[in-house]
Amino acid sequence: MIINPRIRQNICINAHPVGCAAQVRAQINYVRDRAKIEGPKKVLIIGASNGYGLAARIVSAFASDAATIGLAFEKPGSARRTATAGWYNTEAFRHEAETAGLPAWNVNGDAFSEETKSETMAIIKDRLGQVDFLIYSIAAPRRIDPATGEIYSSVIKPIGDPFTAKTVDFLSGVVSQVTAEPATEEQIVHTIKVMGGEDWMLWVERLLANNFLARGFQTVAFSYIGSEQTRPLYRDGTIGAAKKDLEQKAKDINRMLTAVEGNALISVNKALITRASAVIPAVPLYIALLYRVMKAKKLHEGCIQQIHRLYQDFLFSEDVLKLDARSRVRLDDWEMRPDVQNKIRNLWQLVDQDNLSELADIKGLREEFLRHHGFGMVGIDYSADVQPDLL
Ligand code: NAD
Repeated sequence: MIINPRIRQNICINAHPVGCAAQVRAQINYVRDRAKIEGPKKVLIIGASNGYGLAARIVSAFASDAATIGLAFEKPGSARRTATAGWYNTEAFRHEAETAGLPAWNVNGDAFSEETKSETMAIIKDRLGQVDFLIYSIAAPRRIDPATGEIYSSVIKPIGDPFTAKTVDFLSGVVSQVTAEPATEEQIVHTIKVMGGEDWMLWVERLLANNFLARGFQTVAFSYIGSEQTRPLYRDGTIGAAKKDLEQKAKDINRMLTAVEGNALISVNKALITRASAVIPAVPLYIALLYRVMKAKKLHEGCIQQIHRLYQDFLFSEDVLKLDARSRVRLDDWEMRPDVQNKIRNLWQLVDQDNLSELADIKGLREEFLRHHGFGMVGIDYSADVQPDLL
């Protein structure tokens, strides 16, 4: 099959197996070109197949020589249909890790389910004994509560008032206005159930109850705050409510971890184009402006650079851990710099259909999004026939 990208409304519905393997290798090479980090040794990554979670798995393994268990919820390919990018990524990661002599196990299943939790616990018991680090990096549209069987769906909506803003379809480059109606009370509760911290806490509880947490265990989940342009929809909206719940749960988990002298942390990361962020109205346009400004100031980072800096300068640095007033790591420090935000504020007023490619790095954003799906990698022959169930 010849595989070309198929993108609809900022969602890419296919992926290229050879290209995905190449982009996993490119991230590994970024880490290999840098000094080793005295980091974790037995790591569980929940949401390990894309974006921030994949980068965390790569840094754990290739900077700190960790054994990793990577959990994700992805679809395999068939003779006629490609797998999801995350499927190819996790298979490619395992291949690269095994070649390098780094133990790696993949679990493909719904992290919210009892079944997946049990499968993961069995691997820890049989292979690792305990874990010393847990990354929780899920971006999910829905969750079935294991206790009640009830289905919760997350929505990205403002709370209170409608939100109208510019947005971009980054494939066509069409800039338009989008209005999101405010969420109902039920939608707010549902979004917190899916994207809040309850499941993170259930994982830690389960690991602790089984005596699977090493002394000094650390766990990190990712949050986002962002700028005034996206604030009504993101931080003050349903997803922000879920992130506030996640941040509160970090405190609750910390109390649970005193028994193992452990630590639960929130890292507030930078806005980056990933499968998850591409579908949030207004956010891709903000990210395209951000990329233009941060690249001009030589401050731009992708997932792998962000996570490498998280390990090297924050979590596993010999210096005292730098936290904000709410005890969070601020990996978004460069994004939130006043000179960066002031520039974006100006550009946001000016940007329209005609000047989009001049004011915003829409090309860079599109290329990065495509790379997440294995397209546009240098050295890959995209005219070659490949098997979608290759891996
Ligand atoms: P992503 O879409 O690239 O990856 C999401 C991961 O979650 C994938 O590995 C997917 O397989 C996994 N997943 C989804 N549903 C699952 C389920 N039911 N069970 C198991 N795995 C499941 O997302 P991302 O952008 O890397 O986001 C990861 C986290 O980082 C999220 O919490 C997000 O809010 C946060 N974050 C993202 C950004 C950003 O700009 N992308 C910024 C700050 C924080």
